[in-house]
Amino acid sequence: MYNHEPENYTCPFCIYVSDSKFKYLVYKDDYLSAFISSAMWPHNPGIVIIIPNKHIENIYDMPDSLLAETHILAKKLALAMKIAYRCHGVSIRQHNEPAGNQEVMHYHFQIIPRYNNDDLYINHRKKSDILNDERLRFASLLKEQLKSDAN
Ligand SMILES: [Zn+2]
Repeated sequence: MYNHEPENYTCPFCIYVSDSKFKYLVYKDDYLSAFISSAMWPHNPGIVIIIPNKHIENIYDMPDSLLAETHILAKKLALAMKIAYRCHGVSIRQHNEPAGNQEVMHYHFQIIPRYNNDDLYINHRKKSDILNDERLRFASLLKEQLKSDAN
């Protein structure tokens, strides 16, 4: 229902899920994975993206139980992010269909670290790629925090 994925679509997120050495992964269970996004805004690097391990295009096709699990995981990751990044807040968002700014045709749920006066929405056209070293640094910070949360 309401699908826009081109035929023979090569899904970058499915490639991440199948890559056991994916460096930016911060969390994986039987159903969901979470990793540091390759994109950032000027004052908001280290965005976390949660995806289902199975290829599902958008929210309309997501089973309810998986939506609930996604939100529960988002809370856990947001709390870890609060400590690991020392951010002042988080924004979570999720895009569907090209009109909704969905760029990758695999359901994804973003957790964006927020800081006082970070002007995220004013800077919205200034999206860029995060440097690989920075992406790795945020992945390590978050993984360390998750590890200490588990203890
Ligand atoms: Zn996919």
